[in-house]
Amino acid sequence: MSDQHDHDHDHEHVHDGEAPVMKVVGEEHDRSKGTARPITVVGNPVLHRECKDVTVFDAALSELIDDMFMSMYAAEGVGLAANQIGVDTKVFVYDCPDDDNTRHIGHVINPVLEELPAARRVLDDGNEGCLSVPTAYAELPRPDYAAVTGQDKDGNPIRVEGTGFFARCLQHETDHLYGYLYIDRLSKRDRKDALKQMAEGTAKYATVPNA
Ligand SMILES: [Zn+2]
Repeated sequence: MSDQHDHDHDHEHVHDGEAPVMKVVGEEHDRSKGTARPITVVGNPVLHRECKDVTVFDAALSELIDDMFMSMYAAEGVGLAANQIGVDTKVFVYDCPDDDNTRHIGHVINPVLEELPAARRVLDDGNEGCLSVPTAYAELPRPDYAAVTGQDKDGNPIRVEGTGFFARCLQHETDHLYGYLYIDRLSKRDRKDALKQMAEGTAKYATVPNA
């Protein structure tokens, strides 16, 4: 999926009372750092334009990443882009499972999605949701593999790749930073339905009211 948990989807692969042992790739966020901020929702201009590239890798950037992790956890998301807390800058964070019992944790600055060779473009069906479209879900086919290049908070080049649900997350979060929501990739009818679900639901976390 995306940055909103989908409770219909079984990521845990629990077998007969046996506790799932998840492999972790990345470093656990120190939850004593950072403050949760309210989430921007569809219609807020910051979500509908390309964010600015990060050019300065300083303490303020690290603090932004800490706030983004705490905002994501407060909203029970699995990924969060900076413009989802109103910051116009190319950064996303994630704490997201894949379909192979691995939990991926990290951040990417100035992400660029790698073009996939046709042979690797296998589409995965799946439900997708977004913290910025609260309470809505829609089916959206996406490639089941994704790789993103970018930088870490110190400016070092990084590459993050993922499969299944985590591949979906990498694509969804990169889209955010270029001004696209997943509902922009839906048919007109499905988009309308998602917005209707949102209008009828109530977010379980703090949101920024639209002007
Ligand atoms: Zn989203």
